[in-house]
Amino acid sequence: MFSKILIANRGEIALRIIRACKELGVESVVVYSEADRGSSYIELADEAICIGPASPAQSYLNIPAIISAAEVTDVEAIHPGYGFLAENAHFAEICNDCGITFIGPRPESMKLLGDKVAARELVKKAHVPVVPGSEGKLKDEEEAIKLANKIGYPVIIKAAAGGGGRGMRVAHNDISLRGAFATAKTEAHAAFKDDAIYLEKYIVDPRHVEVQVVADKAGNTLHFYERDCSIQRRHQKLIEESPCPVIDERIREELCRAAIKVVKQAKYENAATVEFLLDKGKNFYFIEVNTRIQVEHPVSEMVTGHDLIKMQLQVASGQNIKLKQRDIKHKGVAIECRINAEDTDRNFAPSPGKIKKFLLPGGMGVRVDTHLFQDAVVTPYYDSMIAKLIVHRPTRSEAITTMKRALREFRIEPIKTTIGVCEKILSHNMYLQNKVDTSFIEQHIG
Ligand code: ADP
Repeated sequence: MFSKILIANRGEIALRIIRACKELGVESVVVYSEADRGSSYIELADEAICIGPASPAQSYLNIPAIISAAEVTDVEAIHPGYGFLAENAHFAEICNDCGITFIGPRPESMKLLGDKVAARELVKKAHVPVVPGSEGKLKDEEEAIKLANKIGYPVIIKAAAGGGGRGMRVAHNDISLRGAFATAKTEAHAAFKDDAIYLEKYIVDPRHVEVQVVADKAGNTLHFYERDCSIQRRHQKLIEESPCPVIDERIREELCRAAIKVVKQAKYENAATVEFLLDKGKNFYFIEVNTRIQVEHPVSEMVTGHDLIKMQLQVASGQNIKLKQRDIKHKGVAIECRINAEDTDRNFAPSPGKIKKFLLPGGMGVRVDTHLFQDAVVTPYYDSMIAKLIVHRPTRSEAITTMKRALREFRIEPIKTTIGVCEKILSHNMYLQNKVDTSFIEQHIG
C-alpha cells in the first residue's frame, strides 16, 4: 500500500478519499484553490497546498501546479476523484512519466473507452448489445440522414468525446437532423475541442442502468451489481438506487456479466462504470464506460458493504483482489439524492452563498457525504453538488420512507437546494410504482 497520496480534487469527494486514506493508514495531501481556502477537508488532510486561483483552469485543471505539489510533498500516487482531470489520459501519462501512480486505469484504456465510438466497436467485439447506430464517426450530414432513415427516427447525435450530457441532440426527421448535426458538432468542439460525432437510435423513455466494476492488475474483475439512475434532469443524474427495481435476477445476471465482458475486453484495471439503457421490453444496450469512480458510488457501497475508494487504492498499489464474485452479496435497498445548490424555481440556476443554518439528518440507515458545515460558503466556481444523502434499508418502501424523513431533517439555509424537488419525486406515485424513465423530471416535475 502507498504511504502517502495526493488528492487532485475538492469538496465531498476529497473528503471521501481522505477518509479512506485514514482507515488504510495512508497519509493524504490535498490541493486547493484560493476559493476553497477554509474548507473542512483541508483541515482533515495531513497536508494541504494551495495551487492557484479559483478558476479551474488555473487550479484543479492546472497539471504543472498539481505535479509540482505532488513532487514537493513526495507522494507516491494521485487520486483524481471525479470530474476535473479524472478522465484525462494525458494527465495520467504525465503522472506515470513522473513516477507517480495515477489511481485509475492505464492511459491507453482511458483513451480507448473515453472515445465513445471506439468503445462501441470494442463492446461489439465482446458480443454485448450496443444501441443501433453508426459504425464509426459521421463524415457528413448526408451520411447521417441515410443512416437515420435506415435505423428509423428518432435518433440521437452524440459527441465521441462527450460527457456530462453535453453535445447530444435528438432528431425526429431529416430537417431536424440537419440542424442537430450542426449544433452537436459546434457544441462538441466548444466543450471537448473535438468535433467528432456519431449517431444512435434514440431509445424512447428508457431507464438508465449501470454496473459498478473493479478490476486489478492481474485481471481479476468483479462487479458490485447495478444502479438505476433514471431520475435525471437534462441527462444529469439526480437520484440513484440499487438494485434496479424493474429487473429480475436473470436480467441482472446478464447485465452484470455483460459489464464484466466489456471491462475485460478493454484489459482494464481499477474502478469503472459500464452504462446501459434499458428499453420498455427490458432489453439493455451499452452506451458508455466511465473510467473513474462516480458520484453515485456510495449506493453500491451500502448494498454490498465494500469500500470502493479503498479498493481503488489497493488495486492501484498492486494488490490483487482477494474477494471472489460469490463473496459479494447484495443486501437491501440503497437510494442516493444529490443535493445541489440550485434554485429549482428558477430553472435550477446555481444558488451560491453563505450557509447560515446547516443541520444534518441522521439516524438509522442514513449516510451523508458532504464537506459543508455551518458558515461555510458555497462558491459559484464549481459544480453545484454540495452533498449526497444516502439511505440503506431492507426494502424499497422503507428506504423511501427513511429518505423522505432525512430530506425533511436536512436544513441548508438560506441558499436554495434540490432537497424539495427530491422529496417531491420520492412522493410521486409513478416513482413509488416504478413507472419512471429518463424523461420523468421533464414530464412530471417541471
Ligand atoms: P454523457 O457521457 O454525456 O453523460 P451518456 O452517453 O452517458 O452521455 O448519456 C447520458 C444520458 O443521455 C443517458 O442516461 C440517457 O438519459 C440519455 N441517452 C444517451 N443515449 C441515449 C439513446 N441512444 N437513447 C435515449 N437516451 C439516451
